[in-house]
Amino acid sequence: MNSNDINKLLNHLHQKHLACSEGSTANYIPELAKANKDHFALSVVTVDGQTFEVGNFEQPFTLQSISKPFVYGLALELRGKEKILSKVGVEPTGEAFNSIIELEKSSHRPYNPMINSGAIAICSLIDGKNIDTRLSKVLSLFERLSGKPLKIDEQVFLSEKSTAHRNRAITHLLANFDIIEEKSERSIEELLDLYFKQCSILVDTRNLAQMAATLANGGVQPLTSERIYSTDFNRDILSLMFTCGMYDTAGDWAYSVGVPAKSGVSGGLIAVVPGKMGIAAYSPLIDHHGHSIRAERAIKEFAKTLSLSIFS
Ligand code: GLN
Repeated sequence: MNSNDINKLLNHLHQKHLACSEGSTANYIPELAKANKDHFALSVVTVDGQTFEVGNFEQPFTLQSISKPFVYGLALELRGKEKILSKVGVEPTGEAFNSIIELEKSSHRPYNPMINSGAIAICSLIDGKNIDTRLSKVLSLFERLSGKPLKIDEQVFLSEKSTAHRNRAITHLLANFDIIEEKSERSIEELLDLYFKQCSILVDTRNLAQMAATLANGGVQPLTSERIYSTDFNRDILSLMFTCGMYDTAGDWAYSVGVPAKSGVSGGLIAVVPGKMGIAAYSPLIDHHGHSIRAERAIKEFAKTLSLSIFS
């Protein structure tokens, strides 16, 4: 397919799926509920750096759970695989992203780093002398991945912080089971702040497509040529996105689309076609799994039309 055909396909998918108004904005984080329901963007970045985009591709929104696979990669680079695997597993749960039940089972280790319990445990492993140093490691990772300076949405951060009873409960369970070292009220709150700030980093689909294209390109950012992840860790990130990135619909996604993906409750979705491209979509209307409905349908159709499944 040439560039013209890709542009045509993206325009067609944008127009078609914009007509869908199913779903609702995330309401358990009140600030996210205010998003403009009409926003819809699609971006594609190929491993040789070509960019295709349509719709509100410069509209900023927060990363939310799309941050998880990338910070997992950072933790692997900082702490090594053995340490990481001793704290967080690699099995899909078949449960929702904020599930708490698997922490009660056997090892008490979160099943994987794509669900909240695993992501908070991973966040705890991003070391540094204080919270600011740790946050700057995370922020600088996303700046290198997207090739530009990024900001945190303070309103979204505060909104999540003040309503996060469930994530707070998960973090206390992790402390109880000695998965994390934070034990005092203060250190637990600091860890939660770090996690909420990681989730509140502002991006647009152009940034996200570059981040996804970095994973498609073996860990090298295709536009800046900077190596972000070693090839081994890059492969680990993609394996986990494939089996766990879409939580309790990961099986359906693997079967019907066949590429690693990750969603976030603010409405972002990325898909990685190894060796070829990164795809990103944004629309804030989500389903009860926490996936953007327009984004999911558009990426599914894009992948099907171009036979992008890794098993094709
Ligand atoms: N910050 C959100 C939370 O922890 C991220 C969830 C998501 O995007 N699925 O609940």
